[in-house]
Amino acid sequence: MNTIQIKDKTFAVSIPAAVIQREVARVAEEINRDLAGKNPLFLSVLNGSFMFTADLMKHITIPCEVSFVKLASYQGVSSTGTIKEVIGINEDLTNRTVVIVEDIVDTGLTMQRLLETLGTRSLKELHIASLLVKPGKLKIDLNIAYVAMRIPNDFIVGYGLDYDGQGRNYPDIYTVCE
Ligand code: 5GP
Repeated sequence: MNTIQIKDKTFAVSIPAAVIQREVARVAEEINRDLAGKNPLFLSVLNGSFMFTADLMKHITIPCEVSFVKLASYQGVSSTGTIKEVIGINEDLTNRTVVIVEDIVDTGLTMQRLLETLGTRSLKELHIASLLVKPGKLKIDLNIAYVAMRIPNDFIVGYGLDYDGQGRNYPDIYTVCE
C-alpha cells in the first residue's frame, strides 16, 4: 500500500517498516550499551509512541522498567501551542535514570514541558529517545541523545502517529501529499 487516504488527505509511504525496524534496533543497542547497570525507567509518552515503545523494548536487553505518561498538545496538522498537563507519573523518580520515549520532536515545546515537570523530581539522569526529529522545526535547544530518524518538516502519520485520530495502525510512516 503506497498511498493511503485519511479523511480529506492523501499520504504516501516515506519510511518503510523495514527501515523503521532497523533504526529502532540501532537505538536500542545504543541504550543497551550506554545505560547498562543503571536500571533505566522508560517513560513512554502516549498516545503516539506506543508502537515505538513496544518495538524498542523488544530490543532492550538490560534490566529496566517501563511506564506511560500522557500529555496531549496537538490537533490537526499544525501545533496548537496549547500544552496540557502531564498525567500518569506515579513512580518515585528520585535518583532514577529516566529515558523519555517520544514519537516525534517537532518544535520541542512538548518535550520542554515534560522536562520542566521531571526537573522537579530529583532524577539522577534524564535522556530523550525520539523516534523522529524534525530539525528544521526545532525551536528549543534540546539534547536528544537517541534519535531513530531525522525527517523534513512535512506532516506524517503511521507507526503510532495520527491524523485526527486515525492512521496510528500502519507499520510504515507516510507523508502528506501536497
Ligand atoms: P512539538 O511540541 O515538538 O511541536 O510537537 C510534538 C508533538 O506534536 C508530537 O508528540 C506529536 O504528537 C505531534 N506532532 C508533531 N509533528 C507531527 C507530525 O508530523 N505528525 C503527527 N501525526 N503528529 C505530529
